[in-house]
Amino acid sequence: MAADSDDGAVSAPAASDGGVCKTTKSGEELVVQVPVVDVQSDNFKEMWPSLLLAIKTASFVAVDTELSGLGDRKSLLNQCIEERYKSVCHAARTRSILSLGLACFKQQPDKGEHSYLAQVFNLTLLCMEEYVIEPKSVQFLVQHGFNFNRQYAQGIPYHKGNDKGDESQSQSVRTLFLELIRARRPLVLHNGLIDLVFLYQNFYAHLPESLGTFTADLCEMFPAGIYDTKYAAEFHARFVASYLEYVFRKCERENGKQRAAGSPHLTLEFCSYPTSMRAHIDYRCCMPPTTHRPHSISICDNFSAYGWCPLGPQCPRSHDIDLIIDTDEAVVEDKRRRRRRREKRRRALLGLPGKQTSEENEDGPPMKQVCGDGLKAEEIEQEVAEDETRSQPGLEKGHKNDLEMGLKATRLETADVATSEAPGGQANPHPVAGDGLHRAGFDAFMTGFVMAYVGVSQGPQICSSGPWLPECHNKVYLSGKAVPLTVAKSQFSRSSKAHNQKMKLAWGSS
Ligand SMILES: [Zn+2]
Repeated sequence: MAADSDDGAVSAPAASDGGVCKTTKSGEELVVQVPVVDVQSDNFKEMWPSLLLAIKTASFVAVDTELSGLGDRKSLLNQCIEERYKSVCHAARTRSILSLGLACFKQQPDKGEHSYLAQVFNLTLLCMEEYVIEPKSVQFLVQHGFNFNRQYAQGIPYHKGNDKGDESQSQSVRTLFLELIRARRPLVLHNGLIDLVFLYQNFYAHLPESLGTFTADLCEMFPAGIYDTKYAAEFHARFVASYLEYVFRKCERENGKQRAAGSPHLTLEFCSYPTSMRAHIDYRCCMPPTTHRPHSISICDNFSAYGWCPLGPQCPRSHDIDLIIDTDEAVVEDKRRRRRRREKRRRALLGLPGKQTSEENEDGPPMKQVCGDGLKAEEIEQEVAEDETRSQPGLEKGHKNDLEMGLKATRLETADVATSEAPGGQANPHPVAGDGLHRAGFDAFMTGFVMAYVGVSQGPQICSSGPWLPECHNKVYLSGKAVPLTVAKSQFSRSSKAHNQKMKLAWGSS
């Protein structure tokens, strides 16, 4: 779980932030509530100082966006990364960011090596220029609680592209983004390419034409590095699925085991906000896994692999993440047992001493198989993309072309929604975090949690000279690719003009 239960006591948060950690104990189960601060135009000014403080004092910041659409899905999966970049750019120029989630994680060394204070914000935004909004995205968002009335009435206005004059003193989302750059903290995202391109175009400057220039700019914008939890989950932690909800839950469970075993583990604290702010805070529950679950229910293969299923809540099969993880772990255990038996037999035949089995060494990330077709997820993605090119580009058939990457706009990743008022998760068969309105905030929190947890497994690393988590440093996940996008400045690529101007602004007036 996301909070320390070592002694069951309520832990005191950092003095500067005041208040009490929000943990409740019910029997053996610990229910953690994550406060998500809703920021919109009527409280943006009031929240400005806390936003800035949270960003400036953070050890790292996790970000997530909710978008008005993405455009043509198949071009977003183009095998040529340069082409793929161009398609995302086109989407970022024509679509907008509906909400921005920020989760600031501040290390608290006095409370233990892996203790963080987490502050989570969900900013509702309104792009003041014309933008395309896709019916499919709207439909999905409305079905999942996104309130468009509220967005139009209370969204914080912003404009895209380059600055209009000197904006550095204004209190705007663009200035907030500039402050994020000034903070020089690691930036954490989940499947981050789309987010990065949208953030750049919407809050920073016009996008450069080439991918090389884009990554060169990013390098200077985020000198402490960019981290992608989808990359970390597949290539580093080697989880069999890597959609956000799965990865988060898996990390939460593993962290719980480590805590129970007395091993190094992640502990989190949250601020308790003053009563005057309560109206703007949504407490989201992280639920402990139910100990007794009926294993007779069959799992939905689609949801299990991708976090999404075309049938949605109508699906007769289970979308329960804990059940899915239980099943995956049982499969892994079964394989391990068989391998051990095989190895034992082999050693007996060769007359070798019964020692140590070697772990399997595969090149790609481990993947679960879907629908018995024996294809890996990325192969399906590719196949779908190819299939789409052959047939008419029409989206409908409505399924696998939307997987993972295409999901971004409509967020089918977390298709089933739990109400935040159900801490026990009693009636809801799919205890999934997130409703439409606060999803960006909570997704950013989950993303940050995963990265912090990955940090625990890397052991002590108070090495100030090197990057934070070297294996994941500046690697951005690419759907359908065995290698990530490396964020680097090559000797052949120069940074863009608009970016250089922004850099002057960022460092000139601070
Ligand atoms: Zn299903």
